[in-house]
Amino acid sequence: MIDAHVHLMTMEMLEDAIKRFEKNYPGSDKQIRKSGHKIFADKSMKYISGTSLKEKADDWLKVMDENGIEKAVFFPISQRPEQVRDFMANSPERLYGYAFINDPASHDAPDVLKSGVNEYGLCGLKLYPSIQLFHAYDKKLFALYEEAQGLGVPITFHYGITHAPMADYRYTNPLDLQLPLRLFPKLNFIIAHFGAGFFREVCLLGYHTKNLYLDTSGTNNWTEYTPENWKLKEVFKRAIEIYSPERIIFGTDTVLRPDTGYRTSIMKEQLNVVEALGISSGETDLIFGGNAKRLYFTP
Ligand SMILES: [Zn+2]
Repeated sequence: MIDAHVHLMTMEMLEDAIKRFEKNYPGSDKQIRKSGHKIFADKSMKYISGTSLKEKADDWLKVMDENGIEKAVFFPISQRPEQVRDFMANSPERLYGYAFINDPASHDAPDVLKSGVNEYGLCGLKLYPSIQLFHAYDKKLFALYEEAQGLGVPITFHYGITHAPMADYRYTNPLDLQLPLRLFPKLNFIIAHFGAGFFREVCLLGYHTKNLYLDTSGTNNWTEYTPENWKLKEVFKRAIEIYSPERIIFGTDTVLRPDTGYRTSIMKEQLNVVEALGISSGETDLIFGGNAKRLYFTP
C-alpha cells in the first residue's frame, strides 16, 4: 500500500507557517495558536521540536511497517525543500516528498518548483488556495502549471473546509480548477479529501475531464457539514462511478504525533468501505497504491 497524503512538520516549518499567517493577518498570532490547538498541544510541540529529521523518519518507517505501508508521500507545510530532502534520504525507496511554494503566483515560483524536483528530488506540489489566498484560474499561476506539466509532477489542491488556522473560504471552491484543467491537459491535478465539502463541485468537474484525481485522505468528517450527511461509502461509490478506480488515491493525512500515531483507523475504514463496494481486487489495488505508483514513481 502507498499512503499518498501524509505530512512532514518541523519547528522551522511551523514558524514559517505562523509568519505567513501573521503577514496576511497582522496580530493574529494568538488566534492562530488557539485554532491550531492540536498542533500547539504540549506533546505535539515537544515532538516536532525535540526530534531530528532522522528520528522522525525512523518513527515513520516503524509505523509504516506496522501498517503495511510500502511508501508514503509527505507534504511539508512550508518551503523547506532541504528538510524534505534530508528526511527522504533516510529511506529513499519509501519516503517521498512534495514541494511547497511560499508564493505560487510569484515570478520565481516555476524555478522554485524546478529546483525542488531536479535538485531536491521532490515528486509533486501542494497548493492551498484558502491559505495562500489565490484562485487557481488566476493567470499568474499559469507559468507554474506549465512548469509542473513539463516536469511531469502532479499538483495537489486542498479545497473545501479546513481546520488550518486562518483560512479564507472565498478561495475554496474547486470549480476554480475548471479552466486550468482544460488549459493544461497533460498536467495531473489532484483534489485532496474529495473536495472537503465541495463534493458536488468535484463530481461536476469530472465531466469530460481526464487529468483530475481525487485523494481520499483524512477523517472526511466534512460529510457531517453537508446537507446530505453521506456515509463515506456513498462518497467512495459516487467518486468511483464518476472518476473510475484509476483516479482515486488513498491517503490518511497523518501528522505523526506521539499521542495519536499513524491513522490506522482511517486506513482500515477506507479498506472496509472499498471492499464493501464489491469492485475487483485489481481496482482496489489501484486505489491503495497502483495509481500513486503510476503518478509518482513511473518515469
Ligand atoms: Zn493534509
